[in-house]
Amino acid sequence: MRTPLIAGNWKMNGSTALIDAFGDAFAAAKLPDGVDVVVIPPFPYLEAARNAFANTPLQLGAQTLNPQHSGAHTGEVSGRMLKEFDVAYVLVGHSERRQLYRESDEEVFDRLIAALEVGMIPILCVGESLEERDAGNTMEVVLRQVGYVMARLEPVQRYQVVVAYEPVWAIGTGRTATPEQAQDVMAGIRSYQASFDKTLAEQLKLLYGGSMNANNAAELLAQPDIDGGLVGGASLKTDDFYAICQSA
Ligand code: PGA
Repeated sequence: MRTPLIAGNWKMNGSTALIDAFGDAFAAAKLPDGVDVVVIPPFPYLEAARNAFANTPLQLGAQTLNPQHSGAHTGEVSGRMLKEFDVAYVLVGHSERRQLYRESDEEVFDRLIAALEVGMIPILCVGESLEERDAGNTMEVVLRQVGYVMARLEPVQRYQVVVAYEPVWAIGTGRTATPEQAQDVMAGIRSYQASFDKTLAEQLKLLYGGSMNANNAAELLAQPDIDGGLVGGASLKTDDFYAICQSA
């Protein structure tokens, strides 16, 4: 019912050579039917990626966008610009943006709205820190982040959002959440949605992120409430990323 989605977040990594390698590898690759696969390279590579991925099933994503569509915002990139490069998905609220660039829930919301305004699918990233988990506040933190955004959207807009649960302590650490830990939080997000819209809860696509790799992907993706993955480090190697796509 919910189409699996595997998204590879390259962060500030990659090169034109890696774009070409992905184009070559995935032109020949047979992906499981009905799996959406998105590569999210840094901005300067979008045009090269659009060309290199033309004969592949790979779709394009971007790592962030400015809340405004144009204007005096030196160094920023707008959703309207990304649309010109066939960018279909955009990350908002990644924990690195929240931490390193101090993006608040309010800013995350503004960016997400900008994405919806130009017809891109926002992937809303949420997740607790290790301190928050240890203090027993995981669900509270995650539902605050999800709820802040969902409560401010029109009911119909909520259907256009993908949510990625990424425990901060699992990102880039090699310490993956266990399938049970991830499933627990996913089920919590889904039942929170069900409390005000059961259809939305059934349709909402939930991705897991945090040290997902070719070895642990199948077990994570087998969980009933996990519909896909947001993959960082393991999305930088064609073989690993392809293997994860095969597990979906
Ligand atoms: P990781 O990153 O897979 O390298 O842990 C995931 C992410 O930050 O999206």
